[in-house]
Amino acid sequence: MKCLNCGQENKDTAKACRKCSRDLTIPPAWFPDAQWHLRTLGIIYALVVVFYFGVSAALKTLPRPYNIRKIPIEMTPWLRKGEKFLPEDSLKAPPPAAEETGSPR
Ligand SMILES: [Zn+2]
Repeated sequence: MKCLNCGQENKDTAKACRKCSRDLTIPPAWFPDAQWHLRTLGIIYALVVVFYFGVSAALKTLPRPYNIRKIPIEMTPWLRKGEKFLPEDSLKAPPPAAEETGSPR
């Protein structure tokens, strides 16, 4: 058998190369070639395209407003600029009116 490291011809029963002493019992490593890369990248690209159109079709079946891309600002008040949003504020009762007219005590 031929040594994969130095090309030295060795006996078929040899366990190590007699020139470079490489272990001949280890099988040669596999390296992907250009065809493997093209096929693998093609599969990944096809899966990404299928996933995109699948998710787009699935989102169109949802009711409004979940099927739209741009989320209305009413649904995300914490994203409003210049206004601080505290979730617990929405749970509080509205402040009582300062001047109540026509309410006898
Ligand atoms: Zn060798």
